[in-house]
Amino acid sequence: MLAALVTRAAPGTVDYIVYAPSSPLQDFTPYQRAKAVLSLWAGVERIVGNATLTQPLCRMVDPALTEGMVEWVVGHSLRHHLGMDSHIVNPGHLWDPTCPPLARERPVAVLGMGALGAACAAALRALNFPVTGWSRTEKPGCLHGEAGLRQALSTAQIVVLLLPKTPETEDLLNASRLALLPRGAVILNPGRGPLIDDAALLAALDCGHIGHATLDVFRVEPLPKDHPFWAHPRVTVTPHIAADTRTTSAARVIAENIRRGEAGEPFLHLVDRARGY
Ligand code: NAP
Repeated sequence: MLAALVTRAAPGTVDYIVYAPSSPLQDFTPYQRAKAVLSLWAGVERIVGNATLTQPLCRMVDPALTEGMVEWVVGHSLRHHLGMDSHIVNPGHLWDPTCPPLARERPVAVLGMGALGAACAAALRALNFPVTGWSRTEKPGCLHGEAGLRQALSTAQIVVLLLPKTPETEDLLNASRLALLPRGAVILNPGRGPLIDDAALLAALDCGHIGHATLDVFRVEPLPKDHPFWAHPRVTVTPHIAADTRTTSAARVIAENIRRGEAGEPFLHLVDRARGY
């Protein structure tokens, strides 16, 4: 029989830990009875390496969170694709009748084709953007490996980063990979801050090689007030709001995993500790 949902309980009485990685709970040793830790966050880099955690770890794959991410990525892609800024802020009342190209003429690379990347790629494809996906493992219609990454970057006018933070993905967009992008390419990073080498990005923005970076995630959050990203004319900062875990739908995901645990069925969205995501 499950105990009621509580925020404080004697560790020896706890069956499941519904967990936010920002929680002060870092030592899982006393929770030997717990059958699983059910994270409320999609990204697990703060907990995946915790040596005291021996129970199965499940991450959040929430349909509403995915919906939010699709809206953020499509919205910011269309902003850049349509050149909306030049019409929204036009103090000189310039009449520039240049039409943007069609979406079909604007290649997009989505790095990370998991729950979120695949949904964003599908939404962008539905608008006719030619989307190249890139992931760690081989999958149909998707590039992988260093050669695949180089191929994806070499034509992308918009790059969407939806990778987890792992030792392999840290500084993935460094100076040499940024240099592969066509001049004026736009970067959207709703994945994790450390995926990009900040100094290399600032240098690429300063010289105009990268046209704009819309960043939702940062190495330090909140982004420090004096960070050069805030004032940079080619950077848009959004405060880690691309996709939030939504209570109603996330509660269903948690409840389903508890049901599975009690029925002896495999958990959904298990994290692979060795892989790091
Ligand atoms: P996911 O389903 O685990 O997908 C991760 C994708 O990244 C997979 O396609 C995976 O490849 C790929 N990948 C991992 N390591 C790689 C590597 N070394 N090289 C190439 N590809 C690699 O995760 P998700 O649910 O889509 O979430 C992605 C990330 O979004 C999260 O980890 C989190 O950091 C971020 N996020 C941000 C927000 C926000 O509000 N800004 C909200 C939620 C999530 P395989 O398919 O081959 O495994």
